[in-house]
Amino acid sequence: MYWIDAQTGDVIDRVDRILHISAPTTNGAPAIISGIMLDGEGGISTNVWGWNEHSNNKFYLYNTTEHWEIYNASSGIKWPDRATFAHRETDNWEETDPAAISAAVALDSSLRYFREVHNRQGFDGQNSIVRLNVHHKLSFVGSFWDHEQIYVGDGDGVTANSLAVQDFVGHELSHAVIDYSAGLSESGEAGALSESFADIFAANIEFLAKKMIVKATPTGRHGMPIG
Ligand SMILES: [Zn+2]
Repeated sequence: MYWIDAQTGDVIDRVDRILHISAPTTNGAPAIISGIMLDGEGGISTNVWGWNEHSNNKFYLYNTTEHWEIYNASSGIKWPDRATFAHRETDNWEETDPAAISAAVALDSSLRYFREVHNRQGFDGQNSIVRLNVHHKLSFVGSFWDHEQIYVGDGDGVTANSLAVQDFVGHELSHAVIDYSAGLSESGEAGALSESFADIFAANIEFLAKKMIVKATPTGRHGMPIG
């Protein structure tokens, strides 16, 4: 589906309605996925716990320990996993999607922070999987939580590059936690409090993420052992 500006003829947005791959099932096992992060996150190679689905032997950015999944919301032809669950044929993503890799690392750190520091089990306190959609819309400068999922844009390349960085992901995941705890509404003083709490939590998460990278093993694996 394409949305075209009637006056300029510009493509405003496009969505591929065909699902290319099924969601990961319980028929699989955690697997380390490596890949290159966004320039805004140092552009370095990193590792994050993902998932090897045995039914199709694909490697998903899906984690059943910290309870998150990455979804590629784009329909752009450069993505082999467009409009479906972020996955590759191999556990080494290399430079094929730094936004998805960075989002996975950031979401993992964010959930780990809430579990380790606040004893919070997942965004809703019940270990539900939170979905983060990368490549949301074309040239979208921003990120948001819509009370169900997190959406992150790629930026317009002028005022901002991809927003799939720790600062933004931590902020949006915090909104999810606030939604399922304090339940602050978006407007007025409640909304202002929600924004400030999300910023404070995001700063705390970044502090913890830096500590975890320093403590990482020589192989560079991100975070701590699964289990
Ligand atoms: Zn916010």
